[in-house]
Amino acid sequence: MSKIIAGNWKMNGTRAMLDTMFDALKNVKTENKIIICPPFTLLGTGTVATGAQDCSPHESGAYTGEISAEMIAETGAKYVIVGHSERRQYHNETNEIVRAKATRALAAGLTPIICVGETKEQYDAGKTLEVIEEQIRNSIPNHDFIIAYEPVWAIGTGLVPTTDDIARVHAHMRTLTPAPLLYGGSVKGSNAAEIMSIENVDGVLVGGASLKPDDFITIIEAI
Ligand code: PEP
Repeated sequence: MSKIIAGNWKMNGTRAMLDTMFDALKNVKTENKIIICPPFTLLGTGTVATGAQDCSPHESGAYTGEISAEMIAETGAKYVIVGHSERRQYHNETNEIVRAKATRALAAGLTPIICVGETKEQYDAGKTLEVIEEQIRNSIPNHDFIIAYEPVWAIGTGLVPTTDDIARVHAHMRTLTPAPLLYGGSVKGSNAAEIMSIENVDGVLVGGASLKPDDFITIIEAI
């Protein structure tokens, strides 16, 4: 079955880097759905689908510096990540704000990729399923979204939960939603195949390893 492989470039990348990535991806034969989420300034149509990394919860108006879902859609982008832990942490985004953003995204014709994930303290306290369930129940709109389970402690750290941990969380999320379920957090070429073979894992959200064509293509071809 085909998988979703999304790259989150965060605040990295130039037009030249994106062109290099698109060129490299042209030679890759895959059934998988590839999405690149570069910074806003690089959004648009390319040889693969693009997505933004955030959008405003508001439709339009006096919100200096914000970018609306409609503006993102106008670039040709098809997706938008909402509720990434870096946004929840550094911009105090609550589940309610995340849901408002996802709702705006849907209204603009974008598919939101809604991120959920527990901190290391919550993981150690055995609260993972409780935290994920609360985030999913409160931050999803009605339909047509993708969920990315990204343990906060696994993002950019090289730490990855065990296969059993990922399987347990994804099985629980499956009881809450039929949406495609991605795993994110230190995915790389060497662990992508194993992670994507776990039941209920419909793809991966990749940060650091999505920046270089060779690393990203290894992940795409890992299945
Ligand atoms: C992310 O930030 O969404 C992410 C998964 O990062 P990394 O792959 O670098 O851990």
